[in-house]
Amino acid sequence: MTGNRVAIVTGAARGIGAAIAKRLSADGFDIAVIDLRESDTAETVAAIVAAGRKAIGIGADVSDLAGVESAVERTRSELGAPTVLINNAGILRDNLLFKMTEDDWDSVMAVHLRGAFLMTRAVQKHQVEAKWGRIVSLSSTSALGNRGQANYAAAKAGIQGFTKSVAIELGPFGVTANAIAPGFIATDMLRGTAERLGVSFEYFLGEAAKEIPVRRVGQPEDIAALASFFCSDEAGFVSGQVVYAAGGPKA
Ligand code: NAP
Repeated sequence: MTGNRVAIVTGAARGIGAAIAKRLSADGFDIAVIDLRESDTAETVAAIVAAGRKAIGIGADVSDLAGVESAVERTRSELGAPTVLINNAGILRDNLLFKMTEDDWDSVMAVHLRGAFLMTRAVQKHQVEAKWGRIVSLSSTSALGNRGQANYAAAKAGIQGFTKSVAIELGPFGVTANAIAPGFIATDMLRGTAERLGVSFEYFLGEAAKEIPVRRVGQPEDIAALASFFCSDEAGFVSGQVVYAAGGPKA
C-alpha cells in the first residue's frame, strides 16, 4: 500500500469501535482512538500499546467542527497523516414517533450524519494526498425500518447514501468507502435498550438469538473482521457497498 498506516476510529472507547481499533492495530495500523471523553479511551489505547503498536486517545465530539478538526490535526502531528477512517460513533434516542422530541431527532442526526460528514471531510484531504484511503461507516439493519427508531433508521439509511456518494467522488484518488450494517451486536448500546424494556441483558440476548438464523447474537469482533477486510489492500476494488452483518439475510 502507498498510504501511511494510520487509522482513526470514532466512538472507540468501547463496543464495536474498540474491537475495530484493536483489530486494525493487529493488521499493522497505528490508531487514533476518538471518543467523547479522552479518559474513556484509556483502556483501548492501553490494549493496543500492550500489543506493540502506537495509539493515542483523543476526546472529541464528532458533531463539533472545531473538535473534529483538532482531532484530525493531532492525529497527523502525533501519528502521521491518517489514511483510514472508521465512522463508528453513535447514539440511540429511541421513541415512538408521536413521543419523539426534536432533540431526539436532532441529536441522532448530529452524531451519525453530521459526525460522519465532518470526519470524512477532514480526513479525505490526507487520503487524496496519499492517493490511498479507506473509509468505513457504521450503518445498521435499522436502516430498513424499525419501530421506535424513525430518527436512527433515517440516519443509518443516510449513511448508506453518503457512503455511495463518497465512493464515487473519492474513487479516482484510490480511496474506497463502504458501510457495514450490523444486526444485533452485544454491546452497551443494547444493554441500555434491555434496561428500557425492563428485562435483563441476558434474557434480551437469548430472545434475540432465537430470531437470528445463525442462532447467536453478534459480537463486536464479527464487525471488526469485516472492517479489517474493507481496510485491506486487497479490497481496493470493493467500494460504495453496504454489507449487512446480521447472522442472516435480515434483522
Ligand atoms: P456503544 O457501545 O454505545 O459505543 C458507542 C461509542 O460512541 C461510545 O463510547 C460513545 O461515547 C461514543 N460516542 C457517542 N457519541 C459520540 C460523539 N458525539 N462523539 C464521539 N464519540 C461518541 O455502541 P456500539 O454498539 O459499539 O455501536 C457502534 C456503532 O455501531 C454505532 O454507530 C451504532 O449505531 C452501530 N450499530 C450498533 C449495533 C449494535 O447492535 N450494537 C447495531 C447496528 C449498528 P459515550 O459512551 O460517552 O456515549
